[in-house]
Amino acid sequence: MKQIVINAPAKINLSLDVLSKREDGYHNIDSIMQSVTLFDRIVFSRLDEKTEDFVKRISFFCTNSEIPCDEKNLAHRAALSFFEYCKIDKYDIRIEIRKTIPVSAGLAGGSSDAAATLLALNELYDTELSPDTLCEIGKTFGADVSFCIKRGTYRAGGIGEILEKLPPMPKIFMLVAIDGYGVSTPWAYGELDRIEIRNRPNTKALIEAIEKGDADKIIKTVGNVFEEAVLPYHQKANALHSKMKDLGADAVLMSGSGPSVVGFFKDEKRANFAKRKLKRLGIRSYVCEPYEP
Ligand code: ATP
Repeated sequence: MKQIVINAPAKINLSLDVLSKREDGYHNIDSIMQSVTLFDRIVFSRLDEKTEDFVKRISFFCTNSEIPCDEKNLAHRAALSFFEYCKIDKYDIRIEIRKTIPVSAGLAGGSSDAAATLLALNELYDTELSPDTLCEIGKTFGADVSFCIKRGTYRAGGIGEILEKLPPMPKIFMLVAIDGYGVSTPWAYGELDRIEIRNRPNTKALIEAIEKGDADKIIKTVGNVFEEAVLPYHQKANALHSKMKDLGADAVLMSGSGPSVVGFFKDEKRANFAKRKLKRLGIRSYVCEPYEP
C-alpha cells in the first residue's frame, strides 16, 4: 500500500475587489491571495496496486460532520475528475480528511482539500501531470482550486483562476478567527450586486508593498469589498472585527466572503495575547504566518 500525507493550507485574501458580473453569472475579481499556515491534514492511501479485480472505489473518512462525507465532498469530486482525465479505470483509494480549516468561512478549505487530492493522486499514480494541467482539471469544480494547487502569494483575476505569481510575503502574523454561522458565497455575491461599492482596495499599492517586502505598508493597504456587503448582516463577524482592533491588531480584514476575520500583527506576542482573549470569549482563532511552498 502506498500512502501520502498532505497538509492543505487555508487561503486568505489580502485584497479582494469584485470588478464585474459576467454573463455566465460568475464575477470577475481582482484579488491578492495568500496561503497561510492553517492546514487540513489529509491521508491518501492507494490500495489497488496488487488487486487483480476491476474495481473503482473511493473510500472516504472525515473528522468533521459539517462537511459531506460522500461524493459531494470536493476532494471526492477531485478524485473522480482526476481518474476520468487520466483514463484510469481501476482504482481503490482511501481519503481521510482531518479537518481544521473552518467550514464556509471564506478560507477556501474545500478548494484546498480538492487541490491536495489532485496533487496526491498525481504522485500516487505516477501520472506526472504539470501544475497547469492539474489547474485545468481543478477549475471545473472551484474557482479557488487553481490557487490552492499553486499556493503562496498570487494575484488572481478572472473568476480567480488567472494567476500571477508575486514575491513571497514578509513575515507577519495573522490571527484568523471565526464566530457564528458560515456565509454562503452565492448569497454574499448577491448582496454585493445590490449595493454600490464605496471602498475598493488599492491593489496596485498592495502589490508594490509586497514587491518591496514592506510589512507596514502591506498591513495598511489590505482591503475587501465583501466587508460592506456582509458585515451589516453578520453581527458576530462585525463584532469580532471591532474586537480584533480593540485587542491591538495593526489591521483587521474579513477574508473572502466571510465570516472569518483576520487580524494582522507585526508582533507574534500580541497575536498570541489576542488569541487568548478571544478564547476566553469562546471564539475560535488560529495564529498563522504566510505559507510559501
Ligand atoms: P467557497 O468560497 O468556495 O464557498 P469557503 O472557504 O467559504 O469556500 P468551504 O469551507 O470551502 O467554504 O465550504 C464551502 C462548501 O463546500 C460547504 O457547503 C461545504 O459543505 C462544502 N464542502 C465540500 N467538500 C468540502 C471540504 N472538503 N471541506 C470543506 N467544505 C467542503
